[in-house]
Amino acid sequence: MTNAPGFTGSLLDRYDAARHDPLLVAAMRRDPQALLLCLDGLQPLVGEDGGLGWTPLDAIDEGAVELALLGRIDCVPRFVALTPGVSALQRSRELFEAILALPPAEAGTYAAARSLVDWHARHGFCPRCGSATDVFRAGWGRICPNCGAEHFPRVDPVVIMLAQHGHGEQARVLVGRQPAFPPGRYSALAGFLEPGESIEEAVARELHEEAGVRVHSIRYVASQPWPFPSQVMIACIGLTDDDALTIDHAELEDAKWVSRGEVAAALAGDPNAPFLPPPSYAIAHTLFARWVAQ
Ligand SMILES: [Zn+2]
Repeated sequence: MTNAPGFTGSLLDRYDAARHDPLLVAAMRRDPQALLLCLDGLQPLVGEDGGLGWTPLDAIDEGAVELALLGRIDCVPRFVALTPGVSALQRSRELFEAILALPPAEAGTYAAARSLVDWHARHGFCPRCGSATDVFRAGWGRICPNCGAEHFPRVDPVVIMLAQHGHGEQARVLVGRQPAFPPGRYSALAGFLEPGESIEEAVARELHEEAGVRVHSIRYVASQPWPFPSQVMIACIGLTDDDALTIDHAELEDAKWVSRGEVAAALAGDPNAPFLPPPSYAIAHTLFARWVAQ
């Protein structure tokens, strides 16, 4: 069972030093080998080899589009066009089918590009003074020509966690479902970190708010980028001594305790499993797999 977190393992060398050297970026832009990521809005366009589609950059008129330097793969410069007006809120079944079909490392490169393009589309104006901002740092920031403020792409942390009750053969974990989930799907509970909170505090708060469960001994398991629009998912497990549930129905349609065998059956696609698991590119899937294997 493979359980590397989704959207990780990109082969992209982000080449941060180039972002501070406009002459170097211009030379990379003119490199006859340079490639542009093929996107339709924010939708990936798959190439003939089943991976991400790339097109020669020299076919694009200089100045026709604003570009961000993604970095290098196989020493070849990789760019993405900063398309105004795209929205990461537009997600379709076709998008997730395309992501599932991509090799995992390619999905990671796509995640970086998607979050970056979307961030530019939503940050055209300075939050300090309201002026229109300009691209700088080879596409990894925006600068305000009026007040000089510099703005950089944000990543928003989200905790996603299992509460575990009991040990050994008796161990069970808490899964929940939101009303928007496909029928039968349950996942780990999740929520955004708030300002002034540690990861452990956010895990404990979310589990108590959504399910009435008090956890201790919280430990980190894994993380992944989640480019919808730009989260980092931080997966944890905490222990609880009390399995009584008080479900917040504004957040969750249902929540229940499931055994290691039941989680293993769900991950294996057993039709008799008590729930359908999240897709393989979601870190909840990784979290379940690591818990089953531990
Ligand atoms: Zn400003």
